[in-house]
Amino acid sequence: MNSSPATRLEIDLAALRHNFRLARDHAAGRALLGVVKADAYGHGAVQVARCLAAEGAELFGVAHLAEARPLREAGIEQPILLFCGVQPGDEDEVLRLRVTPMLFDLDLAGRLDRRAAALGRKLPIHLKIDSGMGRVGFRPEELPQVLSLLEGLANLELEGVVSHLALADEVENPFIDEQYQRFLACLQQVRSAGFAPRWVHLSNSAALFGREFPACNLLRPGICLYGGLPGPAFTDLDLQPVMHVRSRIAQLKEVPAGTGVSYGHRFVTARPTRLAAVPIGYSDGYSRRFSNCGEALIHDHRVPVAGRVCMNWTLLDVTDLPEVAVGDGVTFLGRDGEALLRGSELADKIGTIDYELYCQLGSHNPHFYVGE
Ligand SMILES: *Cc1c(COP(=O)(O)O)cnc(C)c1O
Repeated sequence: MNSSPATRLEIDLAALRHNFRLARDHAAGRALLGVVKADAYGHGAVQVARCLAAEGAELFGVAHLAEARPLREAGIEQPILLFCGVQPGDEDEVLRLRVTPMLFDLDLAGRLDRRAAALGRKLPIHLKIDSGMGRVGFRPEELPQVLSLLEGLANLELEGVVSHLALADEVENPFIDEQYQRFLACLQQVRSAGFAPRWVHLSNSAALFGREFPACNLLRPGICLYGGLPGPAFTDLDLQPVMHVRSRIAQLKEVPAGTGVSYGHRFVTARPTRLAAVPIGYSDGYSRRFSNCGEALIHDHRVPVAGRVCMNWTLLDVTDLPEVAVGDGVTFLGRDGEALLRGSELADKIGTIDYELYCQLGSHNPHFYVGE
């Protein structure tokens, strides 16, 4: 018999394809860059990129250079955009892996140009503009200086111009238009300086579904591919959850009213209670903040977490489900039959966002792929 871990992630590639197609339909002919940073938000970057490449994703995006290597080794041929810069000493690896850095720093531009020249190569880069996110990127007022320096770096090719929205999920917020106008002005300067960027892009998932930017020809969806709603305005979108966190009941017990449960006895039974112990805890990425407030699905029904989540154990109050048995499946995120625990709903309970839940659960548990 194969050893099968009690707690595991089921990653539904059919749902991933469904979400990608929905994004592609909204993109109306524009190209899509599949954001697969952070191991594809915990879903497994290689399998996700393979699936999306087959669906027609034209580029991929990663945060760090180390994330590009396994994609290349897996045979992903599409351009890979590197979001978080290049550490000194990694320039040759960027060239070897044919990775396209987002450029937000002139020192990096010089380093990349020198190594590209030494290796007789041209390196494409995407110019990152801070149009109002206030994070990384050149400020618009720096642009004249940046462009004149880039003109002198013959081995860099300005292939894209990119910015990122701070408030894309607030669909009606006028600051979105302000960022777009600033971005357009920068784009104008880039073109006036004689550059002809092939890719112009601004939109994450929320902007993909919420806004139209006529000057852009590439979109960068992330969360929507994984079935996360890009904001409260998007509850009507038919996005399917891709990650399902499954475990099994290891022990069942009946306890009388007045029994303290788990560390600190923060849950005391109010009635004769049936408790299910499930081997998932905060060391598996199931946050301790779900203590006394999380929910799980068993046989299509919701059951509450009882008491504190431990390092390796979580207790569920299954008193209202008399038919459950040891070994029965439990779903902590995702779908179980007709019942659904959305990432955003769970995230709200503990003051975070589904992005963080996916990353946490995804980086601590083995992945099993279905729906290929
Ligand atoms: C993460 C990221 C995205 C994707 O954002 P979602 O909200 O997940 O769609 C797009 N662009 C950049 C620069 C990012 O860092």
